[in-house]
Amino acid sequence: MPSTFTHEFNTPAFKGKVSFSTGLFINGQFVDGSDNTTIDVINPTNGKVITTVSEATPKDVDIAVEAAQKAFDTVWGLNAPGATRSTLMGKLAILMQENADELAALEASDNGKTFNFARNVDVAGSIDCIRYYAGWADKVTGQVLETTEAKLTYTRHEPIGVVGQIIPWNFPLLMMAWKLGPALACGNTIVLKPSEFTPLTAIKMCHLMNEAGFPPGVINVLTGYGGTTGHAISSHMKIEKVAFTGSTLVGRKIMESAAKSNLKNVTLELGGKSPNIIFDDADLEQAVNWAAFGIFFNHGQTCCAGSRIFVQEGIYDEFLKRFTEKTRSIKVGDPFAPDTFQGPQVSEVQFNRIMSYIESGKQAGAKVVVGGERQGTEGYFIQPTVFTNVNPSMKIVQEEIFGPVGVVIKFKDEDDVIKQANDTVYGLASAVFTQNLNRAINTAHRLKAGTAWINCVNSLNANVPFGGFKQSGIGRELGEYALHNYTSVKAVHVNLGHKM
Ligand code: NAD
Repeated sequence: MPSTFTHEFNTPAFKGKVSFSTGLFINGQFVDGSDNTTIDVINPTNGKVITTVSEATPKDVDIAVEAAQKAFDTVWGLNAPGATRSTLMGKLAILMQENADELAALEASDNGKTFNFARNVDVAGSIDCIRYYAGWADKVTGQVLETTEAKLTYTRHEPIGVVGQIIPWNFPLLMMAWKLGPALACGNTIVLKPSEFTPLTAIKMCHLMNEAGFPPGVINVLTGYGGTTGHAISSHMKIEKVAFTGSTLVGRKIMESAAKSNLKNVTLELGGKSPNIIFDDADLEQAVNWAAFGIFFNHGQTCCAGSRIFVQEGIYDEFLKRFTEKTRSIKVGDPFAPDTFQGPQVSEVQFNRIMSYIESGKQAGAKVVVGGERQGTEGYFIQPTVFTNVNPSMKIVQEEIFGPVGVVIKFKDEDDVIKQANDTVYGLASAVFTQNLNRAINTAHRLKAGTAWINCVNSLNANVPFGGFKQSGIGRELGEYALHNYTSVKAVHVNLGHKM
């Protein structure tokens, strides 16, 4: 029997009892893993165990793939009209709305992000995403193509089949929604693995999916570790497509497994080291506020975090002064306290990783202008940190830190900043602050990144594509673009009477 997570929340933000089974979700049932082992889920505010969840093994991946294949062949795929899929997805969005506070409380519990942030960003964005793709489910169509009068030629956008999805811990529910939405809309069945650090909202979603009435086997969720369960998904011979969000390091492994197994189709959403460029003529107060939001949003654990802040020389000193004050004012603490902006980092591993980057910056001669230390003595809290006096060879300038650590770099002019901003293996996002429209657009076009924000950062919408240039990924999520990841295009040629 899988364990049950039971917790009575009594926080200013959320009060109420939460209780649900934490088994693997296979074929609509909650079950133990084949080896009967479990994973501890940790509260990052104090390092204590919150609950345990079942651990999947490669054998469980086989069982889940079989269930997903059966569902695809009988009740989903080409057997479920788009309108049926749309209705079920719409029901799921309504249930998510009804359970929004509980989902936010769960997200805050194992991830450490604040309840308010989880409620307003993660949960709200996930509901939007499922609703948006519910609207697409009966609108995925091919084209009729003019060839000759003797032929009718058209394309069908058919679902791929069983797809594997592997997601990270930084936006657990949101990444799940970004993956489920287009895959379900196109008629695929799914085997999804959440991060071992943040499985709670994914499991809660399985209960909601059952309640919404999805047929058994359409969505299967396996809590497990990357090297075992994740690897078994990416190398499975009967999974035709794998979608991954996570680090560039693991992204490479996913491609390798796909290549070595059945050459499955791969989409990757990977890391970033995004530039945020502030020109002399920017609205300074707004630039400071957005720059802080850009890097400290979600404790810096954001793939598109504006972690390299380039400031033009004429305003550099004033910007730095105000940015330092803004950073110092950030409230770090209990994720459930209403005035907290930044909770703990997600795990001890991440905490140590970020602290070692901070140490490497100090060792390399960069100057800490604010922060630079652990906060408190318990849990994984880190002070929002800003470095100056950096050079391009430093690790803190080149590598993704994935924590509340930004570097501020002075630049001369447009050509200088474009050169520096593009000097990275990543290309996920970028931002430009200026009141000169021509300069804003020219700069945005010259940056090598999948997203360019002008006078804002971290602004995302369900109908707007998101993804990376260079080593930040392959393919796009969100919008109509994401649907292309989940269909196989078939060309049909009908002879209208031409005789040989
Ligand atoms: P990670 O790569 O360590 O893990 C991501 C997922 O992959 C987890 O579920 C993990 O268990 C699994 N995994 C680990 N090893 C695996 C293997 N060998 N085979 C298959 N699966 C494996 O990343 P993380 O630490 O969870 O997340 C942080 C990273 O995700 C950052 O680099 C961040 O930039 C990136 N990210 C990117 C986007 C985007 O849209 N581009 C969004 C969010 C996060």
